[in-house]
Amino acid sequence: MISHDEARVHVLDRVAPASPATISLGDAAGLVLAGDVVATETVPPFDNTAMDGFAVIAADTAAAPVTLEVLGTVAAGAAADTRIGPGQCMRIMTGAPMPPGADAVVMVERTRYDEPAATVEIEITVPPGNHVRGAGEDVRPGDVLYTAGTVLSAGHLGVLASVGVGAVEAHPRPVVGVLSTGDELVDDGRPLRPGEIRDSNRRTLLTMLGESGFDAVDLGIARDDETEIEKAFLDGARRCDAVLSSGGVSMGAFDYVKVVLDRIGDMRWMQIAIKPAKPFAFGLIGDTPIFGLPGNPVSSMVSYELFARPALRKMAGRATLHRPIRVARTEDPLGRHDDGKTHFLRVEGEADRHGRWHIRRAGGQGSHQLTAMARATALAIVPPGVEYGAGDEVEIIPLGTVDG
Ligand code: AMP
Ligand code: MG
Repeated sequence: MISHDEARVHVLDRVAPASPATISLGDAAGLVLAGDVVATETVPPFDNTAMDGFAVIAADTAAAPVTLEVLGTVAAGAAADTRIGPGQCMRIMTGAPMPPGADAVVMVERTRYDEPAATVEIEITVPPGNHVRGAGEDVRPGDVLYTAGTVLSAGHLGVLASVGVGAVEAHPRPVVGVLSTGDELVDDGRPLRPGEIRDSNRRTLLTMLGESGFDAVDLGIARDDETEIEKAFLDGARRCDAVLSSGGVSMGAFDYVKVVLDRIGDMRWMQIAIKPAKPFAFGLIGDTPIFGLPGNPVSSMVSYELFARPALRKMAGRATLHRPIRVARTEDPLGRHDDGKTHFLRVEGEADRHGRWHIRRAGGQGSHQLTAMARATALAIVPPGVEYGAGDEVEIIPLGTVDG
């Protein structure tokens, strides 16, 4: 058996960030920038009003209340081409450009105006710049908006849209195929015949890939047949940036995944000192990474979390590969006999408002007991032979929407 760390390092050393491509903003959410983005436009592009009201010369309001002549109305989207002089003003709507000559805005609530009167009464004195949003207060040409490595969020994409950037240089989202293997698997909803089970791994893995921000491709089920398995892997390697398979990587007599991948790929078959997810394979077909996950439903999910997800995040250009580890107080005793393995136990619980986690067992801990994994909000890390009592602190890996 090799250690969890050795397996993790082995995989991470053999994957690299995908080559940058030009990607339109509409497809860029969650992607990692491959280069700096420098603004070439100004935001706001012109001085404009933050309020509905009247654009005035601030000095004219010094002796408020005062009555000013109204030259007209400037709407958002209109060009302000009427210059105002002393004693004059323009009605103005939020976002509209300041008319030449005006240097302040009085909000409509502090005026008396009956449309379509030619004059308005200004009730208050305002300083120059009042409610004016100056050109370039948000972005100026030459500003380095975002540097390489930035993970593009909604706000970032909004800023890029605001300066007219339509596409960015980014690491493309990895396209990841998911293949189930096994003669026992059924996926068409028909009644099960003796010995058959339903394929759950493909559904969990496709969904986890989506939750991780990758593009998941369903490669279906390959029977325990060398020709079928070979065809499925070659097809996946051709269509995808990486392939996840489940099943056929342990010691069974019909584990042909091993035979096939050894022939068409460059694989390392591992027995990792963890429970669940001891058997694991990683390698390349051509230059496409192949993750051979174990078949047991909980094992395939844990193996994805521990080995595939970090590697795929590296391919996506992410700097943070692993989920953060937290410390939790356990309400249940945790820990098992010393089998030389680190146990990743399915636990449920949450952080209180101070960020302190309280956890308990999420149910049966067998690697076939998927309901407990589905209920789990974290994996508790129990090193070989360690026993935690109720109330003890234990390290956990929060799952689900907790990012890292
Ligand atoms: P294997 O590694 O192929 O020997 O599979 C280990 C265990 O996982 C067996 O009990 C399989 O029936 C089960 N298994 C394999 N693939 C799947 C799958 N896609 N969905 C649910 N269970 C599976
Ligand atoms: Mg099998």
